[in-house]
This record gives sequence, C-alpha cells and structure tokens, in this order.
Amino acid sequence: MIYADNAATTRMSRTAVDTMISAAQENWGNPSSLYAHGQRAKEALEEARKDVAAVIGATPREIYFTSGGSEADNQAILSAAALGRKTGKLHIISTAFEHHAVLHTLEKLKKEGFDVTLLDVHENGIVRPEELRAAIRDDTCLVTIMYANNEIGTIQPIREIGAICREKGVLFHTDAVQAIAHIPVNVADDNIDLLSSSAHKFHGPKGVGFLYAKKSVPLTSLISGGAQERGKRAGTENVPGIVAMAAALKETYAGMAENAPRVARLRDRLIEGITQIPHSALNGDAVHRLPGNANFCFEGIEGESLLLLLDDRGIQASSGSACTSGSLDPSHVLLAIGRVHDVAHGSLRLSIGEDITEEQVEELIQSVSEVVEYLRSFSPIWRDLLAGKKQFIL
Ligand SMILES: *Cc1c(COP(=O)(O)O)cnc(C)c1O
Repeated sequence: MIYADNAATTRMSRTAVDTMISAAQENWGNPSSLYAHGQRAKEALEEARKDVAAVIGATPREIYFTSGGSEADNQAILSAAALGRKTGKLHIISTAFEHHAVLHTLEKLKKEGFDVTLLDVHENGIVRPEELRAAIRDDTCLVTIMYANNEIGTIQPIREIGAICREKGVLFHTDAVQAIAHIPVNVADDNIDLLSSSAHKFHGPKGVGFLYAKKSVPLTSLISGGAQERGKRAGTENVPGIVAMAAALKETYAGMAENAPRVARLRDRLIEGITQIPHSALNGDAVHRLPGNANFCFEGIEGESLLLLLDDRGIQASSGSACTSGSLDPSHVLLAIGRVHDVAHGSLRLSIGEDITEEQVEELIQSVSEVVEYLRSFSPIWRDLLAGKKQFIL
C-alpha cells in the first residue's frame, strides 16, 4: 500500500497515539474541577497550549483549542465580521480557491450584507500582493487568504500579504492547516492576526485543532455555555486530543528541517516522472509549493476512474479534495487557476508524507503512467482528441 493522500489526513504518529491513550487513562479529570485530579488535566492542557504557541511564535494566551480547522476558520472569520459590523466595515477580501470552511462562511456573510472580493490566484495558483493592495478599501474589515492550498499545494506570499494588511490596518486571517509543521510559519514574522490549524494534518488526531488570535483581536464565540477557553469556546476540553495534538506538532515540527527537503526532492522526482505522460500538466507553481504536494491534470480521462484503478493497485490518492470527491463538480481550485471543466475532471492529487520511499515514488510514476494509458485506450474523449475532432489543451 502506498498512502499518497496526506493532504486529506495524515496517520497519527506513535507518539500522538501513546500520548492520547495515557491522557485518556490517567488524565481524565475535568480541567475545570478544583480538586487535584482535575487540576492535573488543567496543567496538561496549559502545557499543550505553551507547546503549540511556541511552535508558531505566539503566546499561550493567544491559542484557543477548537474541534479542528473548519471551526477555527469559522470562528476567525465570524469574529472579524462581528468587529466589522460594529465599525460599519462590511467588506472582506479572500481568494476563489480557499477551503470550503472559508468560502461557505463568506457565502453566509454575503447573505447578511457583506461584500466579498475574491482575488484571482492566476495560473500559478498564487495571489499577487499588489492586487490585494489595490482591493483594500476603507470599509475592508478582513483579509482571509490561505497559507498553502490543500489541493494544488501552492504557498502564498503570506509575509507580504500580512505586511500590507498591517500597513492598511486591516485584520489578516490565514487558514494555515496545510502549512503548519510542513513549512516554517511564524505569526509575528508573517504579520498574522488570526490563524487556523488542524491536528490531523500533522499526524495528530482528528476533531481537534486550534485558532491563534493576536492579543488585540477579540473573538466571538460560536458555542455558548461554560467559560472554557477564556470564555471563547464553551464545552469541556478534549484533553486527550489536545495533548496528543501538541505532541504531534512538536514532533513533526522538530523533524521538519530534515524531512521537508527530502520529501520535496521526491515530490520533484514524482513531478518529473508523471509529467512525461503525454498531454499532462502539473497544477500550480512548481517552486512555491508544499514539500509533499503534486497535483496533475491528464487530458482524455476521468479523475474518478483513475482513483479507482489506483486503489486496485494499493495506491491511495485523491482527485480534487476529500470534500468534493464524490460530487461530479470539478474542483473549484482547478477552475480558479483557469483549468477548463474537461481538463479539471482528469485531475490527480498525490500528497506524500515523511515516510515515503524512493521505491514508492517510482512505483507511483509507473502505476499512474500505466493507468492513464489504459483509461485513454477506451476513452471516447481521447479518441476524439486523437482524431482531431477536439483540440488538445494540454
Ligand atoms: C483539512 C483542511 C481544513 C479542515 O480542517 P478539519 O480539521 O478537517 O476541519 C481546512 N482548511 C484546509 C486548508 C484543510 O486542508
């Protein structure tokens, strides 16, 4: 089996599993209880908060634990929108290729009277800072732009974007779910006010994540109830999940300097090998991309059939994102970088992890090449392309 879908989720590390089990067994008290057993859980929670804060250059008081990336995205955006409402600023800037946790929240705000500008991400899948600068208005209350894209892996010029927002006095949120522990992220250096992260994208458990909110940014809580998370996120804390997240984050982050260059080298080999397939193309910038992400389009085939045949060979990959797989709409990300519907349908995302081997990369190249050729052998679209009834695009 070759697991090449790390952008959808990663396998929990041994450390994260062990930490989670021991916390569940030994630290099962309620952190809000005043007796010693509860206070031990509270200490574990605060230790985790310190660890998480240290990795991204924040202070512990700026970290709020959530149920994952989606919740953090929702809370960040809705908090900025609430501030905007108070000051009469109802304009938000984002991009067309954000995660649906962001896009659907923006859709909701549009119905409530907000004006949303979606910046172009161009063919290379990268926002141009000067276009952001031009889009900022007097009534802009928030800029929300993802750190790295979950489908095509392109990394945005976050530091420049953050600097522009800081200069203009506009709040800046970034969905950094794909970036944290895979590339260096520092909220101070990058001028970030709000940041979302999720444990299961860096070998932690699912259903847990965190929101960083700069000290000066007041949050709106999405869940009403107790005073947990300094009154910003009610509900008894998921202590085993949170401590396991912190353990996974520390471990993955500690290995990053060594792993990232090796994974990136294997990614480049993958790109080199797979783009040898005729009428194929890499999606997104070749340089400014996550170490583990390779995403392709192939003319004349359907991504879904490609996935099924790869699955038969023990290869787990995806077409579009996990959230849109299963629907017949082409990926909004591929459309955003200008791929036409037909081509966007024939896409494949391979997201490799730290444990990938050279042999597995060669096997991926071989299998994808064979399966694409096989699918084309009976594809009516491919026949039309060969016969000149349709034009090749790639
Ligand atoms: C996975 C992902 C999310 C959602 O995180 P969950 O913890 O699954 O809710 C949000 N944004 C991006 C970029 C992601 O890759």
